[in-house]
Amino acid sequence: MKLKETGSQNSSSRPGLNSDRSNSIFFAVMKKVRTRFAPSPTGPLHIGGVRTALYAYLFAKHAGGDFILRIEDTDRNRFVPGAEEYIIESLNWCGIIPDESVTAGGPFKPYRQSERKEIYDKYIKQLLNKGHAYYAFDSPTDLEIQRRAAEKEGRVFSYDASVRMKLKNSLSMTDEETSRILASGEDYVIRIKVMPGETISFDDMVRGEVSFPSESLDDKVLMKSDGMPTYHLAHLVDDIEMQVTHVIRGEEWLPSTPTHILIYQALDLADRIPRFAHLPLLLKPEGSGKLSKRDGDRLGFPVFPLQWKDPVTGEISMGFREKGYYPEAFINMLALLGWNPGTEQEIFTLNELEQLFSIQQVNKAGARFDPEKAKWFNAQWLHRKPVNQLAAALKKQVLELGWHNNRTDSYFYKAAALLQPRVHFEYEMAQAGKYLFVTPDLLDEKVLAKKWKEPYRSFFTILKDNLANQQDFRAETIELTVKKTAEHQQLKPGEIMQLMRVLVSGQSSGVDLFPMMELLGSHEVVQRIESGLLKVKG
Ligand code: GLU
Repeated sequence: MKLKETGSQNSSSRPGLNSDRSNSIFFAVMKKVRTRFAPSPTGPLHIGGVRTALYAYLFAKHAGGDFILRIEDTDRNRFVPGAEEYIIESLNWCGIIPDESVTAGGPFKPYRQSERKEIYDKYIKQLLNKGHAYYAFDSPTDLEIQRRAAEKEGRVFSYDASVRMKLKNSLSMTDEETSRILASGEDYVIRIKVMPGETISFDDMVRGEVSFPSESLDDKVLMKSDGMPTYHLAHLVDDIEMQVTHVIRGEEWLPSTPTHILIYQALDLADRIPRFAHLPLLLKPEGSGKLSKRDGDRLGFPVFPLQWKDPVTGEISMGFREKGYYPEAFINMLALLGWNPGTEQEIFTLNELEQLFSIQQVNKAGARFDPEKAKWFNAQWLHRKPVNQLAAALKKQVLELGWHNNRTDSYFYKAAALLQPRVHFEYEMAQAGKYLFVTPDLLDEKVLAKKWKEPYRSFFTILKDNLANQQDFRAETIELTVKKTAEHQQLKPGEIMQLMRVLVSGQSSGVDLFPMMELLGSHEVVQRIESGLLKVKG
């Protein structure tokens, strides 16, 4: 790369980019909202990242716009094999389908930054030519020395206007010296030249007006010694090239945004600065501090959408999918972590979220992740699932457990319908309804100790006979028989209901009692009462 290249880009060769007039034409024509999710493939996607993707997607879809997935892989040291595939599969599982991406293609391909190097080179040259960027030759050791010296004086070293003329760069050196070093092949980086004395302000869609003095910004590296751009340059160039109108990202990027704005200005593209929305953090269940993988490990919940196997250590991290969550429940929960629709409604399909989402209703404060609420969302979605689907899952589980006993599909259907309101996850169904398939061995001792009285034995003996003689074994008629028999024996139904449940199911609680008895059928119920009575002492 040559110092101060001549023949800088002709502004008219990029229509719409360089003059104020054409910029306004650009935005008039390019009204379409375009957002992007731009993860770096450095590991599994944290649920905070999925929420960012979801909000960017919802924002675009609400406005009838496009959502782009761009892979930001310019930091080769942090590249993790399999991470890109993981990100793509995660979004796919969630139903967050990009309009443009590495896999879907699109008019601005490639969508992987490592394949876009020439595009960044073009922009960096422009910044160098205009004197907004400069070469810096300081070695990592030089910088470490500076850092230590600053530390001794109680300062934090920052490569900026206050020190740059004392350091090894093309601003502090003569052009001849710089050319000589460049020609010698020595390592260099390219930094942005931030001028002191400016205030950079922007209107964040979540936080409102934000201002930073330019003295608080360092001369960030735009291109590293390996010739690859840093995130700061690459994402911005891509946002320009891909015509991104709204940047929705995590709040950790807020402090870098003023530098990004200065780069747009330095490129004469101030009119192309997108609107920004910096999303609040996802917090630990306890309420303070960023939600981390360690919190998940400690409290037994996933923080990743899908299971992830670390390619180096082989360590497996659990995923919401593998933990039995429905993708609908997962995104519903994530949508409400930081956004609210302004009503009491909590259950939303992706489609409904697209209709309702507004960035104005995203909270400024961090959102506490509540693992119990996550389960609640799954239960809500399970309650809305077709019984057929649950019946098939239940049948599979029961077969695997060896409890089949020749039950018909209709039996599984009815059992699933009874269990549906009582479980959070499909995988819990068979165990939660074991008594619907297997005669209980043990009866709930606590309930018996507390509630059993001798006269009940004769009541249940009579009841069992009455039930055995009952032709029509439907829930309503069973209930009637129980009530009538109790009345006859001068017992209140309330006294014997839970005991009857214990005799029939072994448990103190469970699915609705009379429908359960109907499902088990007269023969089984009578037998269970008989064998139950033998187990009850007293
Ligand atoms: N590559 C950045 C990340 O990993 C993207 C930040 C942005 O959206 O600008 O978070």
